[in-house]
Amino acid sequence: MATASRLGTLSIAIAGCGPAGLAAALLFQRAGHAVTLFERFDAPRPVGSGLMLQPTGMAVLDAMGLLPQIARHGARIDGLLGHEEHGRTALDSPYRQLSSTAFGIGIHRASLFGELYDAVCEAGIAIRTSHEIAASQIRADKRLLCFADGSTSEGFDLLVDATGWNSALGNRHDGLLDFGALWATLPLDSDDPFAGNLLEQRYRRAAHMAGVLPTGRRDPEGPREVSFFWSLRGDRYDEWRATGLDAWKAEVQTLWPDLEGLLQRIESVDALTFARYAHRTTPRPHGERLIRIGDAWHCASPQLGQGANMALLDAWGLARGLAEGRSVAEGLRLTVAWRSDHVRLYQAVTRFFTPLYQSDAALPSILRDRVLMPLSRIWPGNHLQARIMSGLLGWPLASLGLREPDYRALARAIPA
Ligand SMILES: Cc1cc2nc3c(=O)[nH]c(=O)nc-3n(C[C@H](O)[C@H](O)[C@H](O)COP(=O)(O)OP(=O)(O)OC[C@H]3O[C@@H](n4cnc5c(N)ncnc54)[C@H](O)[C@@H]3O)c2cc1C
Repeated sequence: MATASRLGTLSIAIAGCGPAGLAAALLFQRAGHAVTLFERFDAPRPVGSGLMLQPTGMAVLDAMGLLPQIARHGARIDGLLGHEEHGRTALDSPYRQLSSTAFGIGIHRASLFGELYDAVCEAGIAIRTSHEIAASQIRADKRLLCFADGSTSEGFDLLVDATGWNSALGNRHDGLLDFGALWATLPLDSDDPFAGNLLEQRYRRAAHMAGVLPTGRRDPEGPREVSFFWSLRGDRYDEWRATGLDAWKAEVQTLWPDLEGLLQRIESVDALTFARYAHRTTPRPHGERLIRIGDAWHCASPQLGQGANMALLDAWGLARGLAEGRSVAEGLRLTVAWRSDHVRLYQAVTRFFTPLYQSDAALPSILRDRVLMPLSRIWPGNHLQARIMSGLLGWPLASLGLREPDYRALARAIPA
């Protein structure tokens, strides 16, 4: 847990109620700071479908005392298994290569959001909704927020930009990737032919990919669910809508016939959300009384499933930086110093891996299937692959005073 700040009580504005903003708000409030969250939506809400909680994000939630209650909504994921269209294994990455007890958690975004949001509300943290932030400025040694309606906020000792990959406070909007993905949350039937403990994928070269991620139960009384996703180029989205649902389902089934039952539960094109991604890293994420965390600092394709986990690590790192710094500026410098290597490493690794799964070129899938797959079957390739997938490459936990969760105890919190 973050220790009390030697800076006394700081007034901190956090822009954005995603995982980064909500976790930071809780950690700052516990350290005795006066926190105000700002969010553009009328009611804060999660955007998107399922995500993977990796050992890194789990370590933060565990240290915050929230992991067991979050985990009970999720599904235990023991590995990632991908096949190319003819059935040959193209990716096999079990968490047990990390340690015999390790696993990840597939969870609906709403469950992660809901638990963090409830904890923020219980802690009595002020949330100002319907506040679309457009810019910020320094006045009299304080940081002010400027809103889209032309109004401004009071001054704060620190502004944390956690507004995600399209940050209005950032000055870069480049790096949009060609491929995005269609996503849907679907109920799982007991006779569906999917392993409940694997993130499964099917590829046709790297141009087509379908995936199924078990995400547990949002509602303990409700059905088990999965996130289904289908890779799609951004410039083919309109064509996809025009093609019609039935023709698209037929195409998906030629790649992965087992999806038939799941696809029947998609009743209209509007049941699928199209998500775009960008790959971008802000080289200097901190300035005068300002820091960017989460996707506002570094965004990437979700191929490696790290974004929310890195956002949580950033929030933890910032709370620790403010606890140890002798000034706000030093706290921000410490935070960036602790997090930068891991951020750079994962931005580079994600940039390398993404085209292996999302690309029109032939070479990436050949490299994936003929070179990387065989290497990943033998030491040290198998161990390296598990470390990459789990977010633990580069040892991000030690410098933040975190450690991996007790997987055995955690497994008991996850319903079968
Ligand atoms: C399809 C998809 C699948 C993914 N899968 C995974 C996965 O498996 N594992 C994983 O770890 N990550 C995954 N990610 C990435 C992950 O969702 C992000 O990295 C993570 O949500 C970033 O958290 P954040 O808090 O930085 O930003 P966000 O979650 O984007 O939150 C930003 C918040 O700021 C608010 N906001 C934005 N602009 C403004 C403004 N101008 N004024 C006020 N408020 C504003 C938004 O409404 C939102 O509440 C996935 C992403 C996508 C799109």
